[in-house]
Amino acid sequence: MSGFLRFIKNSIVSIAIAAVFFIIGNELYFFDTRPLVSPLAEKTQLIIRNDLYGDGYFSARRSGRRLHTGIDLAAAIGTPVRSVKSGWVAVCRNSRGSGNFIEVYHKKGMVTVYAHLDTIKVRLFQRVRQGEVIGTVGKTGNANYKNMQAHLHFEIIQDGRRQDPMAWLPGIKTQEKPLVINAERKQRIKAH
Ligand SMILES: [Zn+2]
Repeated sequence: MSGFLRFIKNSIVSIAIAAVFFIIGNELYFFDTRPLVSPLAEKTQLIIRNDLYGDGYFSARRSGRRLHTGIDLAAAIGTPVRSVKSGWVAVCRNSRGSGNFIEVYHKKGMVTVYAHLDTIKVRLFQRVRQGEVIGTVGKTGNANYKNMQAHLHFEIIQDGRRQDPMAWLPGIKTQEKPLVINAERKQRIKAH
């Protein structure tokens, strides 16, 4: 074999080896250690919102016969929001209802949604790790009522169907003391 051919052969072998290590390294870097992690900071208790404007359960009633499509996790404005699994940022933008929101696509047909964010800390198509901070809790979109608690609106969509995230995230609590009287609340059930 001529020197030139040997050089080509060695180069191809080197590139192939480098590619294999790159792919393995990449997979390890984005490896999920748990099925899902909390969408809020690791040690934050997950609490379902319950305020003047209704409660934050999955399928809770909303105005115009709509049902709540996710859960509302009460948290202070600025609380870090994390991707529950590794994946790709498929949507990050602002809409009238959801405010600043992010959709992350995961493997095996799962999509997670994070809405009413104060800030978005990722770019479109960015790959994110499990637990990586992607934004912060806010009151944007239709969460922007004075007496509505700041919260993360969180959704899980599996194979195109919305799931109750409570079934996926253990240890979620309901707020112990309802903040308002039901009669007043009923008139205001709307929005997220
Ligand atoms: Zn909501």
